[in-house]
Amino acid sequence: MTRHVPYINEEVSSRDFKYYIFDWDDNILHMPTKILMEHLDPDTGLWMPVEVSTSTFALVRSDSAHYRAPTAGGWDAAFRNFADPQNDSEPNRFLEDTMTALARVAEGEKPSPSYNTFKKTLVDGRIFAIVTARGHAPATIEKAVRLFIENALTPLEREIMMSNLRGYRKWLDKVEVFGSDEEELDYYLGMCRYSAVTYEGFRRRMANDPIYREKLATATMASKPELAKEFAIRDFVEHVFHMLRRTGGLSRSVAIGFSDDDKGNVASVSNYIKAELSRRFDGIKFVVYDTSDKTLSKGRKVCVSGQMNLPGF
Ligand SMILES: [Mg+2]
Repeated sequence: MTRHVPYINEEVSSRDFKYYIFDWDDNILHMPTKILMEHLDPDTGLWMPVEVSTSTFALVRSDSAHYRAPTAGGWDAAFRNFADPQNDSEPNRFLEDTMTALARVAEGEKPSPSYNTFKKTLVDGRIFAIVTARGHAPATIEKAVRLFIENALTPLEREIMMSNLRGYRKWLDKVEVFGSDEEELDYYLGMCRYSAVTYEGFRRRMANDPIYREKLATATMASKPELAKEFAIRDFVEHVFHMLRRTGGLSRSVAIGFSDDDKGNVASVSNYIKAELSRRFDGIKFVVYDTSDKTLSKGRKVCVSGQMNLPGF
């Protein structure tokens, strides 16, 4: 059966506005990158070096009685493999690990809970944000997203994605003459947001924000990563809000979904949405997915806030 994909999918103009914020590790992809920590050996009472996976880290990170950052180098040393190399000529561990993780899924490994939602988001041409505790430059994460597009989507899915992207460009930006596929993909990926919250540039931006400078000053060490995720989420919601205002899209229902496999992040983001975001953006529906339970294919919906009630969200 051959399926005809229109050059421009004009039907996107009848869609609702749904956007997603994705955590990367163990939510989109199960990455092989390890965190270097120290574990208190119960037999000897000694702290021993141990490499933990990101899914284990999500469980043990608050267990400071048994797990801690390496005494030499602290958290920077723990997450050495989660940042870009000092030198551009060195291979980038994140991109290599992304390829490994994609290959495992292609070979039949069960994908992470939001893998298919992320894939659908791309095929639909919807705007999204990646918000991760990693320390990469936004450009590195965008490259990983391109690897995902090249490897996880079939040629037909990529064709549908391009058709949808042109549909949005025509509808919202009144574009009549399109660039090459590469140019249109560049435009789309440029509208998305890539926030690695331990990246120096991100830290600086957060420290320069008057509200978050104050929040950071009183935050405990353990709550700082969650605060950083909050800041990244606010950033994306504001971005979406301004974009919709510019294109006149605020007249229809808008929903933003957030998924993370770390229960601590899920709880703090849910609180943040209820306490602040849903009040400030009262026309937007927020939905939070806890993807920590690997037996559930899409995670568990834990928080819904806002007035809209969209079917299928
Ligand atoms: Mg994660």
